[in-house]
Amino acid sequence: MAAGSDCLFCRIASGELPATRVAEDERTITFMDINPATRGHVLVIPRAHAADLMEISGEDLAACAAAAQRIARVMPERLGADGVNVLNSCGRAAWQTVFHFHVHVIPRYEADPLRLPWTPGPGDRDEVAEAARALEG
Ligand code: 5GP
Ligand code: ZN
Repeated sequence: MAAGSDCLFCRIASGELPATRVAEDERTITFMDINPATRGHVLVIPRAHAADLMEISGEDLAACAAAAQRIARVMPERLGADGVNVLNSCGRAAWQTVFHFHVHVIPRYEADPLRLPWTPGPGDRDEVAEAARALEG
């Protein structure tokens, strides 16, 4: 998938499409997943387009890893998470569906029913908004 107007996450990065952003830095944006696997599921993307793990620059990969760690670290206190899954899918065979690199940061709760891969479904809007407020700033 090409960068720019053909790429969903480039359109989110540019602000052309809305997303519930919870953190940003020079190289990355962290926003709520629209079909969350659990309450508080976020995606970390590089601002610069790269299709996948094979393509992303080392600098952007490091920035995404650092951003994923920052948001994971606040999940226990802000969301009551008991653990976190960090996941990247690279290629269709590995379940990748959006071809702009992203890291899933998925808070886990004792005895939550999640089994990977999850079946994506629309999140509860109020719950997503509440989790976003807890994670912001
Ligand atoms: P993948 O399957 O490529 O690893 O993950 C793509 C993720 O992007 C999925 O978890 C899906 O719910 C999420 N997603 C797809 N479209 C949108 C969108 O328009 N906005 C947001 N916030 N997330 C999206
Ligand atoms: Zn893109």
